[in-house]
Amino acid sequence: MTEDFSGLGLSSKVTDAVAAAGYTKPTDIQAKAIPHVLDKKDIIGIAQTGTGKTASFVLPMLTRLESGRARARMPRTLILEPTRELAAQVHENFEKYGKNHRLSVALLIGGVSFEDQNKILDRGADVLIATPGRMLDQFERGRILLTGVEILVIDEADRMLDMGFVPDIERICGLLPPRRQTLFFSATMPPEIEKLTKRFLRDPVKIEVARQSSTAETITQKLIKVGSKPEEKRAALRDQIRAAENLTNAIIFCNRKRDVATLARSLERHGFSVGALHGDMDQKSRMETLDAFKTNKLTLLVASDVAARGLDIPAVSHVFNFDVPVHAEDYIHRIGRTGRAGRSGAAFTLVAPADSKHLDAIVKLIQRDIPWTESATAAPAEEPSEERRGPRRRKSDDGKAEAGKPARPARTSRRGDTRKDDERREEPRRKPDPREAAALGIDENSPFGADGPVPAFLLREVSRPR
Ligand code: AMP
Repeated sequence: MTEDFSGLGLSSKVTDAVAAAGYTKPTDIQAKAIPHVLDKKDIIGIAQTGTGKTASFVLPMLTRLESGRARARMPRTLILEPTRELAAQVHENFEKYGKNHRLSVALLIGGVSFEDQNKILDRGADVLIATPGRMLDQFERGRILLTGVEILVIDEADRMLDMGFVPDIERICGLLPPRRQTLFFSATMPPEIEKLTKRFLRDPVKIEVARQSSTAETITQKLIKVGSKPEEKRAALRDQIRAAENLTNAIIFCNRKRDVATLARSLERHGFSVGALHGDMDQKSRMETLDAFKTNKLTLLVASDVAARGLDIPAVSHVFNFDVPVHAEDYIHRIGRTGRAGRSGAAFTLVAPADSKHLDAIVKLIQRDIPWTESATAAPAEEPSEERRGPRRRKSDDGKAEAGKPARPARTSRRGDTRKDDERREEPRRKPDPREAAALGIDENSPFGADGPVPAFLLREVSRPR
């Protein structure tokens, strides 16, 4: 294994930027992939986020892009990402590692002004980072020509499959020059993904790096038995958060996006410093929440799987699974948010009686038992109402300040959301009947849908005139 970045064939501009970022040793995927990318080979990288896979394509791409130049509306490289956040993160990586270059990078995602990005494309983009639907949209408007693409990156292919993007990807591949280089990354290789690689890659080098489950030694995993009522689960969660050792920040995962908003508001009312991340928020709110969490202005982040997929948040001390994930793979993705890059972390999963089937699937997948821990839960506390507690109360029920951070409102605005790609298939929700909505006094387009009971304080919130 290469001990440092100097032996991989990267240019000095790139290795200087890597050193400035503080990285001294390439990760497994970087050491294995970079020489092949520089050698213009097609790659299938079976690697999850957290393995350093982004730099494994960004660094050699930067080196490759040092020769040649972009032409108007003909991007030289194209990177497809399933979500806006992932696309934005890749963009950040180009800024970080490309600081010694003068490359133009365009970002085509929802919530980012097309006008600005089109200016970059018109001048000639070295790199175009996009979600598939946005890319096709701009292609159809004649804003982009794809005949100059030398390198195509398809990132998080299995997530693209989950989100229904495979037809878009097939279409895009058909629009690109056949003599391009294709770098294909996926955490898993289901048959549909395998089929894609057979169709669109030429003589690829297959690189597989250790699954996150095998790096789990750095993550302490625990199960907590809870009742099935949401208020019991919320009380158990609060107890676990309060009792958690060395908690600096945490991500809390819910299976359903409507529960993300409900849980975040509940935690906020209990005085926690918390933000929410789910598919019904506009781009600006999501970015703001993510930034606040990254910069420690928020201690807790409640998220759905799709919203949190691949987020690069380097030092999360704790992960809480408010729900046992339905797909066992998601458990690995979720707990992979902590214990990154050799740091220790803790992952707690609340398990209700109905979850045993999904728990069994997880244990089978990770091939290890997860120990049960004592639940510190007392009788579930009543949800404090807005009138009684005030919306920005900073102390918890027991009077202790929560993790030393001021509480901030969870962001759930849907205004101006022009979602096209990511999250559009996150979770089908039943739209309330307009008459039912009117009778309840709720917005029929409420992010909470009509499923299940909606706590009174949420009904008030969504019916408030904006
Ligand atoms: P990724 O798998 O691309 O999401 O990267 C996961 C995290 O690893 C990010 O926070 C990167 O900044 C970080 N990282 C990337 N390369 C290295 C490296 N060679 N050494 C240590 N950390 C790295």
